[in-house]
Amino acid sequence: MASAAPLYETYNRVPLRFERGEGVWLTTDKGERYLDFAAGIAVSSLGHSHPHLVEALTGQAEKLWHLSNLYEIPGQERLAARLVEATFADKAFFTNSGAEALECAIKTARRHFYINGEPDRIGIVTMEGAFHGRTLATIAAGGQAKYLEGFGPKAPGFDQVPFGDLDALEAAVTEKTAGVLIEPVQGEGGIRPIDPDVLRKIRKICDDKGALLILDEVQSGVGRTGRLFAHEWAGITPDIMAVAKGIGAGFPFGVCLSTASAADGMTAGTHGTTYGGNPLAMAVGNAVLDVILEDGFLDHINDVANALSQGLVSLKDRYPDLIEDVRGNGLMLGIKCAKSNMEVVQAFRAENLLSVPAGDNVVRLLPPLTLTAEEAREGLKRMDAALEKLTRG
Ligand SMILES: *Cc1c(COP(=O)(O)O)cnc(C)c1O
Repeated sequence: MASAAPLYETYNRVPLRFERGEGVWLTTDKGERYLDFAAGIAVSSLGHSHPHLVEALTGQAEKLWHLSNLYEIPGQERLAARLVEATFADKAFFTNSGAEALECAIKTARRHFYINGEPDRIGIVTMEGAFHGRTLATIAAGGQAKYLEGFGPKAPGFDQVPFGDLDALEAAVTEKTAGVLIEPVQGEGGIRPIDPDVLRKIRKICDDKGALLILDEVQSGVGRTGRLFAHEWAGITPDIMAVAKGIGAGFPFGVCLSTASAADGMTAGTHGTTYGGNPLAMAVGNAVLDVILEDGFLDHINDVANALSQGLVSLKDRYPDLIEDVRGNGLMLGIKCAKSNMEVVQAFRAENLLSVPAGDNVVRLLPPLTLTAEEAREGLKRMDAALEKLTRG
C-alpha cells in the first residue's frame, strides 16, 4: 500500500530526532543525550560541531560558496597537494560522495587502458560482500543481489570472487581486467579486514598481470583504522583510491586519488562534476586534514582504540552467548553477534548508545576519532548494561 508520507520509503528510520551535537554526544528534540558510536556511518570523524571545522565552514560561507570547475579553486589545489604529499597519489579529483569517487576510480582505470592501446581491458574484479555505493556502476561492482534487483541489467564488466580467495582472484584477473577493486576492510560487509599478507599478494597479482589496484577507502580511510589509510598497515600502495566519508567530516564530499600514470587518460573534457571540490567542501576538507595530520593524532586514535577493543574483548568473554567475535582495526570495530545484530543495536540504543548494523550479523562501532578514553569507557559501560539486560532476556 502506498504511504501518504512524502519521503521515499527506502529507509526504515529510527524514530529519534537529533537537534544538536557536540563532540561524541547528540541531543534529541526532547533533550535526551546519546553517545554517538555511529558517527553518521564513519562520517563525523571529528565529532559534532568541532570548533575548527565550524570556523572553517562559516568563514568560507561568508566569502564564497560555489564557482564550478570552470575556474581555479585554490582550496582544491591546496587540499590536493596535501593529499598527494601524504599518500601514494600524484593526482586528485574531488567528488560529492563516495560512490562518485568510485565512479571516477573505475573510469580512470578503464580510460588508462583505452588510451594505452587496450580498449577491451575494462574488467573490474571485486570481492563478495563488498559495498561500493548505490549508483548503477557501483551496485554492479558490489555485486550484491539485494541492491541489484529490479534495476535493470547489471552494468557489464564487474566480476566478484569469494572474500579473501586468492586463487579465485588470480584466475579472475585476465588480460581483459583493468583493475582489482577492494576495501582493505569491508565496512557494510561486516568489518571484515583483508589480511595484510593477502593484500600484499593481491598487489603482486595486479603487478604480474598488468592490472591496476583500486582501493575503496571510503569508510576505512582518513585515520579510521589508526593509520591515515588502512592499506598502510600492509605496506603496499594502490594505483587508484576512492575516499569520502571521514574526509568531509559531515560535509558531503569525496575524492579519487591516483598515480599520474593510472590517471593518464583523464584529460580535459573526459570527466566532470558541477559541485565536486566546491569552496565550502574544500574549506572543510583542509580543516579536517589540519586535525588528522597533526602530530600525535593517529597515536591518539590507536591508544583509544586499544582501550576500546580490549574492553570489547572482555565483554565477549563475559557474554559468550551474545558475542562471537570482536574484529577490526583502530576505531573501525565490529562485534560479530551470536544473536541478532539488530537486537544488539536496539539494546545499545536503549542505553542511549548509537551503533550501526552491518552484514555478517555484525554491529559496527565507528565513533568519532576524537573519542577520549573516558568516553570509550562510558560506551563500554552502556554496552555492558545492554548486554546484561539481553542476557536476562
Ligand atoms: C559509504 C561507502 C560507499 C558509498 O559512499 P556514498 O557517499 O554513500 O556514495 C562506498 N564504499 C564504501 C566502502 C562505503 O563505506
